[in-house]
Amino acid sequence: MITTATARIVLKKPEKEASPRSGSPEVRTTVEGVIADIRKRGDAAVREYSEKFDKWSPENFRLSEAELVEIIAQVPDQVIADIEFVQTQVRTMAERQMASLTDFEMETLPGVFLGQKNVPITAVGAYIPGGKYPLLASAHMTIVTAKVAGVERIIAATPPINGKIPHATIAAMHMAGADEIYLLGGVQAVAAMVIGTETITPVNMIAGPGNAFVAEAKRQLFGEVGIDLFAGPTETLIVADEHADPFVVAVDLLSQAEHGPDSPAILITTSEKVGRAVITHIEEILVDMPTKGFAEPAWRDYGAVWVVADLDDAYVLADDYASEHVQILTENPREALDKMHHYGALFLGEGTCVSYGDKVIGTNHVLPTKGAARYTGGLWVGKYLRTVTYQEVKNQESSAFLGEICGRQSRVEYFEGHARSGDVRAAKYGDKTLAW
Ligand code: NAD
Repeated sequence: MITTATARIVLKKPEKEASPRSGSPEVRTTVEGVIADIRKRGDAAVREYSEKFDKWSPENFRLSEAELVEIIAQVPDQVIADIEFVQTQVRTMAERQMASLTDFEMETLPGVFLGQKNVPITAVGAYIPGGKYPLLASAHMTIVTAKVAGVERIIAATPPINGKIPHATIAAMHMAGADEIYLLGGVQAVAAMVIGTETITPVNMIAGPGNAFVAEAKRQLFGEVGIDLFAGPTETLIVADEHADPFVVAVDLLSQAEHGPDSPAILITTSEKVGRAVITHIEEILVDMPTKGFAEPAWRDYGAVWVVADLDDAYVLADDYASEHVQILTENPREALDKMHHYGALFLGEGTCVSYGDKVIGTNHVLPTKGAARYTGGLWVGKYLRTVTYQEVKNQESSAFLGEICGRQSRVEYFEGHARSGDVRAAKYGDKTLAW
């Protein structure tokens, strides 16, 4: 047990340091190499990396209409019905978000009109992860939301899973409204969609979560295209008081640790008794958890249990982590809405859980990781829109008035050309004479 200066006690500490926020040097180097090669050799390089990383080299990476029909026909009816249900929940949330964005125009001086519009990005590439699990839920999150935003062309890529076609993921991508579907994964998929190849027309933005390689590819290509956010390996954090059920806490922590061996699961509790019970339950559950291959190393290497003096300190410590998911299992969970600042999504009370957010409830599961929650929220309809402005001056007197000020202000900055644009209007529409 470690005691810190701030009277926080660590009941379980991570065995490894978290990897740096901008990606490890090895991942960075691999990604740089793949991107540079795809830039140079296009489709041939894409194929080579797909063979190397995914043992996947079909005649065409893009699925034809006939292939789609055949693949979707193999998905059980109940799975299709559930996909429809979840996509409806995600669509409902995105439509409400869309309704919250209003364009406006106002008159600031006589005849001077300033306006703002939200315009959809025209072409988006959605990355649907699938290396370890067929993450069909990411198809709902990225593609349905882009559709609601009004994106004209949505292309989507997902990797084969252990050399096999992820039927349900493909069905979800198609049902969500993807215009082109590629069975292609990792850096090669992201780079091909951004840079473009002989067979793939490039997009203007990349969205969707992924592993460290995918997140790093988005980071390196950002600027060339827009990205939604850095949504790398999943993280979860639970704030619990003495009212929390330790078994539920243990199950919920492991539910996120199973995403991968690099997924941290953190508990911050005001009750040492709860903290110790959670650790015991986790050890018991791990013994025969089917996904322990990921959950166990994630828990051992990156899991932590803190005991703090009170909930106010719990929120401060939780804010320092800026975790992707934060679950509040306390007597009064709603107080976290005011007291916490840094999280991708909050899950208030025992009635819900991160798995609901991940799979069914309708809030978006593409969320910031590695501290990005300090400056961004998760994917939402607004990420697919560009907020642009426009202006018009219909009144000549107002234009002459602005022209005079523009001339003076521009000369303070030594911008003679800017000043003259103001001068000509002050002269043409007002009573000024040109002095140059
Ligand atoms: P993935 O699709 O992200 O990555 C699989 C691809 O990684 C493969 O296609 C392969 O090309 C590439 N790859 C694997 N090893 C490589 C190597 N050594 N070098 C180069 N490329 C390599 O699928 P995944 O691996 O299962 O990861 C999914 C990730 O998405 C998980 O970490 C999960 O936590 C995360 N996730 C995050 C969020 C979020 O919002 N933050 C949401 C859902 C999932």
